[in-house]
Amino acid sequence: MFTKRTVVVGGGLAGLSVAARLAKSGVHVTLLEKAPKLGGRAVTIPLKGFDFNFGAHAIYARDSSYIRKLERELGLDIGWADFDPKKARYDLGDEMTEMPATLEGLYKTKVLPKGSLKARFALDIVKTVCWLERGEEGVTIGEWLKRSGRHEDVIELMLTLASSNFFTQEPERIPSTVYFKYYQRLFTTNKAVSYIAGGWESLVKELERVVKESGSEIVTKAKIEGVEFEEGRVRAVRTGEGVYEADEFVFAVPPKELGKIFAETGLQESIAPYLLYRPNTVLVYDIGLTQRIDTPYTYIYDKEARVFMTDISAYTNCTPPGGQMIQAIAYLKSEEVGDREHAQMRKESIQKLFDKHLPGWRDQLAAQRYTERAAAQEIKVEDDQKLMPVQFHACKNAYFAGDWVQGVGQLSELSFSSGYEVGTRILHRAGLR
Ligand SMILES: Cc1cc2nc3c(=O)[nH]c(=O)nc-3n(C[C@H](O)[C@H](O)[C@H](O)COP(=O)(O)OP(=O)(O)OC[C@H]3O[C@@H](n4cnc5c(N)ncnc54)[C@H](O)[C@@H]3O)c2cc1C
Repeated sequence: MFTKRTVVVGGGLAGLSVAARLAKSGVHVTLLEKAPKLGGRAVTIPLKGFDFNFGAHAIYARDSSYIRKLERELGLDIGWADFDPKKARYDLGDEMTEMPATLEGLYKTKVLPKGSLKARFALDIVKTVCWLERGEEGVTIGEWLKRSGRHEDVIELMLTLASSNFFTQEPERIPSTVYFKYYQRLFTTNKAVSYIAGGWESLVKELERVVKESGSEIVTKAKIEGVEFEEGRVRAVRTGEGVYEADEFVFAVPPKELGKIFAETGLQESIAPYLLYRPNTVLVYDIGLTQRIDTPYTYIYDKEARVFMTDISAYTNCTPPGGQMIQAIAYLKSEEVGDREHAQMRKESIQKLFDKHLPGWRDQLAAQRYTERAAAQEIKVEDDQKLMPVQFHACKNAYFAGDWVQGVGQLSELSFSSGYEVGTRILHRAGLR
């Protein structure tokens, strides 16, 4: 066993995955989580026999994802259920049409009315895959596409795709460089979207198992309130009850918490800009039904309302026998967050979508989970908002991981990839790689 100690603060997907990788490699880890339960936003809430997760725990490009690397390296037992693009549709109001997620879908879809536009879109995919399009620093994808002279229907489709992958109501504000990097990876995958069959909980339990089996420890109900900072290093972290000393410290807690933890330390200034950035906030409305309502589609995206619903029970085991669970998410613009009237209107538009595609759902309703504002990503990738680095020059032994930190992809893939980078840096310093 390597004798140096690492403290990981935060037991969400980022903190747990760093802790599991380090522990498995022989580092002694103490993971401190403020909540009584692990998982952070990837927590599973049981209600009347239904397991409610935040989001459809969809993993994008899983064949090249960091969670796949972790699965292999740590021997995680994860059940996968791959998304079926044949069962996905865009709801255009008066008609339903195929999503252009495959060549067949592109051929059949009505979102691009003419064959020549479909050929143009297919060419854009090829150019993105071959890195012939990369975008420009400081230019949003909306501006970039306009300047490029593409047909408005092609622009609309490229933005619609980004809307659902980045969980955003304003895809035009995504930096063009981030856009192309993201799709370069997604367009080359064989597994564009997959679900974790056992829900987030099954993954959280697996990561917890690896930490514990490797002889490391997890302490819940341990809220870190501050750090002892000396000569450009963190010496210890403080809870209300005690102090945890270590050689390396990983902070896998969102920026607003970091602002409090590092107040009046040598890292305060480095962290300050990230406290000003907006999160990517969505409205969530999930329902559990006692009996399945037959529907030919497992995913429907209402293009006008920018709301999507997923029949998550078609992919994961999260209901009592014979039941059904539908998850719906509405993307919010920053100025809509906290506006109760707007939230009510969006809730009603989700209910209308349920009425249209799940006739009789109100009679079968057994449980529901409604959240007006949930942070799908703690720093939204738009305009000049930047993700945090995994380390700052001002501190040699503090590392950062989470979906607000630089990495690959979006959403939880950022948590896993930034966590992976942190783990690699600590293992290098320890001479274990
Ligand atoms: C509605 C919704 C749908 C989503 N859908 C998807 C999806 O389909 N696919 C996907 O990949 N991602 C999805 N996501 C995103 C995914 O859930 C997050 O990216 C991921 O869970 C973030 O994990 P994290 O560890 O980076 O952060 P967090 O989950 O925020 O973890 C931070 C942890 O730190 C703890 N903590 C905070 N302060 C302290 C402190 N002072 N001391 C100790 N502990 C502290 C918190 O309690 C928490 O456990 C969705 C998110 C939402 C909200």
